[in-house]
Amino acid sequence: MKRIACFCIPAHGHTNPMTQVVRELVKRGNEVRFYSFEEFGEKIRATGAVFIPLDSYLPALTAQEENALKRVSLTEMTLQDIRITECLNDFLAAEFADFQPDVVYSDSVCFWGKLNAWKFGVPLVVSTSTFAFNQLSSQYMKHSPAEMADMIFGLPRISAALKKLRPLGYHVKGALSLIQSDNQTDSIVYTSKEFQPYAASYSDHYLFVGPSLPADAMPMKEKNRPLVYISLGTVINDRPDFYKNCIEALREVNADVIISCGNTVDMASLGTLPEHVQVFPRVDQLDVLARADVFLSHCGMNSVSESLYMATPLVLYPQTGEQAAVARRVREIGAGIDLKEDSADGIRAAVKQVLAKKAFAQAAETCSKGFRACPGIPGAAAFIEQAPHKSDAPDPLAVLNKENGKAILLYWLIGIVIGVLVGVFVGTKFIWIVGMVFGILQTPFGKMVGERNYKRLFGSD
Ligand code: UDP
Repeated sequence: MKRIACFCIPAHGHTNPMTQVVRELVKRGNEVRFYSFEEFGEKIRATGAVFIPLDSYLPALTAQEENALKRVSLTEMTLQDIRITECLNDFLAAEFADFQPDVVYSDSVCFWGKLNAWKFGVPLVVSTSTFAFNQLSSQYMKHSPAEMADMIFGLPRISAALKKLRPLGYHVKGALSLIQSDNQTDSIVYTSKEFQPYAASYSDHYLFVGPSLPADAMPMKEKNRPLVYISLGTVINDRPDFYKNCIEALREVNADVIISCGNTVDMASLGTLPEHVQVFPRVDQLDVLARADVFLSHCGMNSVSESLYMATPLVLYPQTGEQAAVARRVREIGAGIDLKEDSADGIRAAVKQVLAKKAFAQAAETCSKGFRACPGIPGAAAFIEQAPHKSDAPDPLAVLNKENGKAILLYWLIGIVIGVLVGVFVGTKFIWIVGMVFGILQTPFGKMVGERNYKRLFGSD
């Protein structure tokens, strides 16, 4: 029996995978405290864990900060993470002293969970509700110019905020080291190795447990006509314009349609619904996906995992860089297509294409089987109970970086030789051109060599 302290940010997509594992931990006789927020109290209490609300420690926000958070600004989310860590400092110090946890099980972007585990020297298991992102897999993220600007201009504010954590005993190198997956931290990822991009670059400290979903939840596709399910998740879902286009697109299609539109959309504003279209603020998504034949999704990791678990192919409509990474992987395994245009015509064409071509459903079914062959929730619980984990195997990423480093060194040696030859035979004033060409080509060369080395060393993509 272990004492386990769990921490998560206030987000359903991050909390849901943890609650399944927590239920199992409680069932196995562990003493579990889950530190979260009232909005999630009901589902946390249902696991049998002791729910400890942190709402009263949330810092007050200006209207501007609140708006930025709603827009899912990465800078604002990071700053909010840091502010909450500061506000919780005294309370969590008292809790750690009182509860004396054997293990901390914390969401990967929940700074106060991770930082307090490190501060008090308690073994940490990180819960990664998206893909694990390292230097390789993060290439899958495609950030919009607005997201890029938000990150670049936000860096000085983040560095200044992180400095304030040091006197409290939290030693942080930088925000990236807190957010990115590293090969030394015990980590649970709720997907299969087959679905995780660059899975071979992760060390033995990683356990790919498959989606955190009940094993007895099975697809049930038998029915008279197809079922189309549409949702943009629980965060950026205030899109009445988009739901109206969906209704228009599927008005004449011979299928049942379920739309989950979230709590903020005024359902009356969507107009009179055709008899075969139903709109709800929230549905039991796993139950709907068990029956659905296509899911038009924003590509949140949980939604995509649930869809593939239920062998449902997707139309991909990502809204953030992270969701674009998940969408790309679905495309790569052949279980979905992009929504190229979010007009009624674009939606109709994409939905019809996925319904018509069986290969999409087959690819989703193959992925579902892979998910179900993973260690699952019992495997995740055992991994947490047994933390910290030791590994004598070499760190695959370090091995890869060493090989890449050799190639870059050789690249520059060749550059120097060519530079000298140009200097001698053409003229010294041309040497800078050689330097510039090699400088510009270093990034694509490094990428190409990195891909080759990855395949050579690990024999996979
Ligand atoms: N969800 C649900 N009912 C709904 C819409 C969403 O239960 O009507 C759940 C869904 O099953 C998933 C989570 O909310 O577990 C959404 O997480 P995801 O990572 O897909 O997206 P986010 O909401 O974090 O953007």
